[in-house]
Amino acid sequence: MTRYLYLVVFSICSSLGLTFSVNAQIEKIDPPFWWIDMPVEQVQIQLYGSNLGLHRAVIDYPGVELVKQIAVDSPNYLFVYLNISSAAPAGTIPIRLSHESTTLTLDFELKPREDRTNKNQGFDASDVIYLMMPDRFANGNLDNDTIEGMLESADRTNPERRQGGDLAGVAKHLDYLDDLGMTAIWFTPIIENDMKPEYGAYHGYAATDLYKVDRRYGSNAEYKALIDAAHERDMRVIMDMIHNHIGDQHWWMRDLPTQGWVHNIDEYMQTNYQGSIVADPYSSDYDMQKLVDGWFVPEMPDLNQDEPLLTDYLIINTLWWIEYSGVDGIRMDTYLYPDKEYMAEWVEAVLTAYPDFNIVGEAWAVNPPAAAYWQYDLPGQGDGYDSKLPSITDFPWSFAVRDGMAEEFGWENGLMKVYYMLGQDHLYTDAMKNVIFLDNHDMSRVYEHVNKDEATFKMAITLLLTQRGIPQVYYGTEFMFGHEYRGGDDEAWRQTLPGGWPDDSRNIFSEEGRTKSENDAFDYIRTLSKWRKTAIAIHEGSMKHFIPENDTYVYFRLHEQQTVMVLVNTSDEEKTLDAARFQEVLGNFTTAENVVTNAGKELGSTLVLLPKEASVWELKAEL
Ligand code: CA
Repeated sequence: MTRYLYLVVFSICSSLGLTFSVNAQIEKIDPPFWWIDMPVEQVQIQLYGSNLGLHRAVIDYPGVELVKQIAVDSPNYLFVYLNISSAAPAGTIPIRLSHESTTLTLDFELKPREDRTNKNQGFDASDVIYLMMPDRFANGNLDNDTIEGMLESADRTNPERRQGGDLAGVAKHLDYLDDLGMTAIWFTPIIENDMKPEYGAYHGYAATDLYKVDRRYGSNAEYKALIDAAHERDMRVIMDMIHNHIGDQHWWMRDLPTQGWVHNIDEYMQTNYQGSIVADPYSSDYDMQKLVDGWFVPEMPDLNQDEPLLTDYLIINTLWWIEYSGVDGIRMDTYLYPDKEYMAEWVEAVLTAYPDFNIVGEAWAVNPPAAAYWQYDLPGQGDGYDSKLPSITDFPWSFAVRDGMAEEFGWENGLMKVYYMLGQDHLYTDAMKNVIFLDNHDMSRVYEHVNKDEATFKMAITLLLTQRGIPQVYYGTEFMFGHEYRGGDDEAWRQTLPGGWPDDSRNIFSEEGRTKSENDAFDYIRTLSKWRKTAIAIHEGSMKHFIPENDTYVYFRLHEQQTVMVLVNTSDEEKTLDAARFQEVLGNFTTAENVVTNAGKELGSTLVLLPKEASVWELKAEL
């Protein structure tokens, strides 16, 4: 492999501190390889090495045409575009690079595609997504806690630093997640973040190489194997990506391809974080420029999606990961911050190539109109923008339920907040595609938010698992984490799971290792999630709800094969409701079965709701 030979020569020379007398060395090739019979024909290859931009590339390979080659501001990059037709066989394309009297040959491999069965399956409202931070979930491999040459090692004494969790830790707990009723896993980014320790980049949102899994999490091959193992259990995997920014230690930052590769490289400008203004018809240019061109934080250079060489790179990078890993979906970070036309172009490129795939954008918007703007085929009077994006993270749902469950009932408060929020679903193209959640890695834990009330917590969980959309459970929430607020967010919101590390004093993954309240929460989520797996009314059914009255809320999920009733009582008192109000749904049903306890009840003239009850019932026409 010529490529590796050059890499070896380069690294030996580097370690000896030698300067190069030859004109060029190939240091990096992105993507490292490609496939035949891909659903896209054109591939951009970014070649990096000293003075490579001075070279001209020539190839001679059946079915492959070199369409264009572009040198840029830095002399060390050459961007080569290949058209790979269906006639191209698998094999190695020799790319000859010539400059004056020197010639290099680079071998670029075209692999056969793997069978796509059970790969790139997408995710939808039949799923329950488990969101985890791989650094905080479980440490399955102590040997990768410290990687020589990387800037940060695990330090369990400091919650703001890496803890050593990894993909091996996840692999050991796939059965646990399956047993919990989870059908999809979303990891916060597993891409290399070789950042300085004080930056706390265990979150993964400061990429330093877009083609590598961080070695403290594992390898690219381990990531692929983990996805295969998830697929064997009929679970899906969602990859977290970020096209808005990279980490300041990304290798591009030492030698930017073009001056315009990142925004505001000469003078720092910070974003205003007001993503909702994109949908605002009165937004000022000043505010929009700050939002889109400003940096998220000083350690995260803001990528310029007006640079076509960069956007081609990002699209090819995305397709490479989808094809390589078999991953089923993408969660795109900071969706409101990059150039929105590019984001639509990216979504279209991905979904055209992989039609069964799904993408959810992190749309941190303050209300349904601002969130709905980001879903495909925006109905109503928008500005003509079509994001093409199937799914959004439904922050308005999250805010309404978190607050609504914790508040006193009132005209616009408590349960009314949830009711009015759902009443705005006509704004969405398809609210069933919204990802709904009670907490995530950027929010306080829901149990803390609902004033540490166990019954209220269960009510919120009940809504999460029975309302429209694709539910996401944040790791640790299955144990009702949020009891203690100890210091900073890194500790309070992003705890390690006891038992995930060999020296832990208990194992929360086992029933014996959990406290009673942890088991109660775990059992409730598990029972409801497992039932949900087969509940077609939740996956596909419509919704009908009744105006909340007197601290109570009743709604139904309706499907021709199944009718589900959800009863919620946020007060400390028993409530008796007149069942006549619900006759349009209850109709001829005679009994109801509690899906958690399997208890049955006859449907009479009243519905009795116990204090703080949240219950889910399947309606039956006969005993
Ligand atoms: Ca580890």
